Amino acid sequence: MDMSIWIFVIATIFVGSSATYTKGSSRIPDVYEAITYNLDLNFPEDVFTDNGRRFSGKVMITLKLKEVPDHIILHADKNYITIQNITFNDLALPQDYYEVDIETQVLKIKTPYSLEPHLNHHILINYEGLVEDNDLFGLYKSSYTDENGNKSYFLASQFPPFYARRVFPCFDEPSFKSVFYVTIQGPGKMQILFNTDKHSEEDVDYGRSKIIHFEPTEKIPLYTLGFHILDFNCTKIEGTQIPQFQVCSRKTTHPMRNFTLDIGPKLLRYYSNFTDYDYCNMMGNKNCYKMDVVAIPNYFSGGLENWGMVSGRETDVLYDPKLSSEKNKQRVAQTIAHEFSHQWFGNLVTMKWWSELYLSEGFGTYFEYFGLEELFPDWKMETHFVTEQMHNALQEDASESTLALKSISDTRDDIVAKFSPISYSKGAAVLRMVRYFLGSQRFRAGLRSYIQKNKYSSVTSKDLMQALGAEMDKKFSIAPADFQTVMENWINEPGYPIINVKLPEDLVTISQKSCLSSGEKAKVKWYVPITYTTSQDKNEFDTKPRLWLTPNEYYPTVAKLPGGNSWIILNNNQIGYYRVNYDDTLWNRIALALDKDDFDGIPEINRAQIIDDSFFLAQHRKISYGRLFKNINFIRRDRSYFSLISAIKGFNYILSTVGEESESGKSLMLTLLLMMENTYQSIPFDPKDSEEHLTALKRDAVFSFACKLGYLPCIEEVKKRFRDYVQNKKRPHRDLRSLIYCNGMRYSKNATDWDFLWGEYKLNTNVASEKEAILSGLACSKDPVLLKRFLQNTIDNPTVMSTQDTWTTFSSIYKSSSEGVDIAIQFFVENYTNIVKTYKSMLVIGDLLAEAASKVTTDQSLARLKEFVKEANEKHKEIVSQAEEAVKAAEINLKTIRDCKSDINRYLQNSAGKRSASTLGITCIVFGYYKPFTG
Ligand SMILES: [Zn+2]
Repeated sequence: MDMSIWIFVIATIFVGSSATYTKGSSRIPDVYEAITYNLDLNFPEDVFTDNGRRFSGKVMITLKLKEVPDHIILHADKNYITIQNITFNDLALPQDYYEVDIETQVLKIKTPYSLEPHLNHHILINYEGLVEDNDLFGLYKSSYTDENGNKSYFLASQFPPFYARRVFPCFDEPSFKSVFYVTIQGPGKMQILFNTDKHSEEDVDYGRSKIIHFEPTEKIPLYTLGFHILDFNCTKIEGTQIPQFQVCSRKTTHPMRNFTLDIGPKLLRYYSNFTDYDYCNMMGNKNCYKMDVVAIPNYFSGGLENWGMVSGRETDVLYDPKLSSEKNKQRVAQTIAHEFSHQWFGNLVTMKWWSELYLSEGFGTYFEYFGLEELFPDWKMETHFVTEQMHNALQEDASESTLALKSISDTRDDIVAKFSPISYSKGAAVLRMVRYFLGSQRFRAGLRSYIQKNKYSSVTSKDLMQALGAEMDKKFSIAPADFQTVMENWINEPGYPIINVKLPEDLVTISQKSCLSSGEKAKVKWYVPITYTTSQDKNEFDTKPRLWLTPNEYYPTVAKLPGGNSWIILNNNQIGYYRVNYDDTLWNRIALALDKDDFDGIPEINRAQIIDDSFFLAQHRKISYGRLFKNINFIRRDRSYFSLISAIKGFNYILSTVGEESESGKSLMLTLLLMMENTYQSIPFDPKDSEEHLTALKRDAVFSFACKLGYLPCIEEVKKRFRDYVQNKKRPHRDLRSLIYCNGMRYSKNATDWDFLWGEYKLNTNVASEKEAILSGLACSKDPVLLKRFLQNTIDNPTVMSTQDTWTTFSSIYKSSSEGVDIAIQFFVENYTNIVKTYKSMLVIGDLLAEAASKVTTDQSLARLKEFVKEANEKHKEIVSQAEEAVKAAEINLKTIRDCKSDINRYLQNSAGKRSASTLGITCIVFGYYKPFTG
């Protein structure tokens, strides 16, 4: 599944959702040799209207047993499935031979007689099913407004991690790979899409309905099964290209399919070459396998890797070259690269259990970047990887509640906790580290044998380590221990090392300490590949380890530095999954080097690393904020998108720590404004037709921040263009939209502007990325009345706002400002009953609460959350545990903030004294004249 969505949605949806999911393991005993499903589903016409939700299902499961159990254990969710009868090897079972436990979702079938192993046994289950209409899991019903203004209902599926059991009784675990024969009956005029091609079709009732028999699948993991029934059409690649590739979406979105049609086949070829396992061979000896990309108007995942039928949100798989931004284009490319790589890593070779989800998502995230390097060399995907995934992982993995890549996942709560940046970002970062210390050739050879040996099967970390280790152990000199030993703590322990670098006399020594500070976890040490560059050797930041820091070594000497201002920087291209802290002497020398015109040859990827490490070290009280600002002083002159984006992320964090509206916040904004002013002046506000991808990204990041800080020329430009939009309906350039919508709202003194943009959201039904940009823009308003109205719309207009848009709304408000967080929490608490009435699903509601809690920066909001817990204990028992979790998360967050705040304030007081009179003049202009509208 797509990383971005997990981060923003899944990770927070499920955290602490124990009220929805009862504890208790419901694992299936591993007694099956082979499983085949014959699944027959019939959806009557009324499912595609306002009212109907029922369908009839029949599943025949053919089993071969390794051992003979008393009971057959399957999964079925009783809230959705009502069993009518069960036949076991043609023998009708009395009702007391089977039962479904509503809590564990286990269907237990007593075998009627003693069974023979290694023979086929057949269980036939007839049942009535219900499609979901509250959330976006299992098989759910949703709708959109079609080109004629009519409501068009559709069904879509989202099975991972454990929602197939809502649709048919099954062995709902990733290791039970099975063959599926699927037949679906649905309305004659609609598309019925499935993992495999159509085998044959029958007409029913003169075309009113149709029955489609699909080709059987290979042995596939159940969670990659999927089907959608929608009034869509598809565009196929012309000619006889292999594999058959098509993009399917709402009819009016057909011009947006071209980009995906262009990159899709190229990516399939790239992965076929990389793995030396042709996509065409995935279905054994049958004809070359097809691939569809399906864009769904209301979908949980940005992208989902259904075998042969990648599905996703419109914003993530469709790109409109006239209306969507460059940022959006990259997002679509990344989604396709990620989901296609899963066809090999995840689908063909699957993790045995969710406890090692990184074996799927670590690879998905890795290839999301490295799969695109050949297609878009000028996008610099490796540097994107470092500033997006690596830095994100290093941040998340330092939280005391972090999990190891491999960790116990017994309950459904445990499973959902695995869908976190650890499995995705850390998984990918560790794989990248391995690639560099093994060397790219050996890394690829190892992965090729891993795929070849484990295809159609399921694996644990051991299988991956064996395959990669076989490559390393041919060359002894690569590491100080065997591969398994080197990797042990990277896989099985949470956190990562912080490498402390010291310069006693002129010898550089290093030591390691875990980023985690409490308990046994804090004592862990790793085998760390060390790369470094000094001012003398300037070895072009070679990525081959020069030495290893082993768990038993203390303060080994790395290099000798001559006096003067000679410097050393560790972790070339940030290939190692660790952070680096230096003593004051070394930091001073690095800062001096970075202040030189050409940053003394230090490349942008390492400049971004130094920025990100410095913010982290200050946040965790390992260096002072004074030190931080000295280290990153070069950002005044640095025009690299990657340096800037890393700095802006850090600045936004400390801004939310002190609060934008506080006196310290204003003083900080002025400091930042002065630091960044030259950068703002270096970028033209209006995009050129032929400009580079990274220039467009940089403009968006830099001006969004400039306007937020109150930089006058930015605000002027935005206002001019927003007026033009309101008065002359002239929409801003595609790469300026987010900036103009957001700051148009932030600096508007007129509520009718907000109403105008809300009207545009309602009217604009075709381009999903545009709708998303508008929603994020609306959330930038500083007017509490308007923000409340916005939130009110999520419960008053559930037909206008899809479930995915509700998430976007809350999420954008949380992100826009600390005031926004307070308002959203107040709204949640005051309107809880209505929110439940509208969304019913505790998945959605738990998400809204958990995400709010992670963003709390004020005592006022914490107090509100505590009050809510008290109330929930009496009135809303269903959300008590989520609310308690939320309070815990908010308390931890607030503590970090309090710790940092005084240090930031100290820095600001010191630096304010040094400011000249002229800069104080700017303060008046910035904060006096353009005081944001506050209602
Ligand atoms: Zn994925």
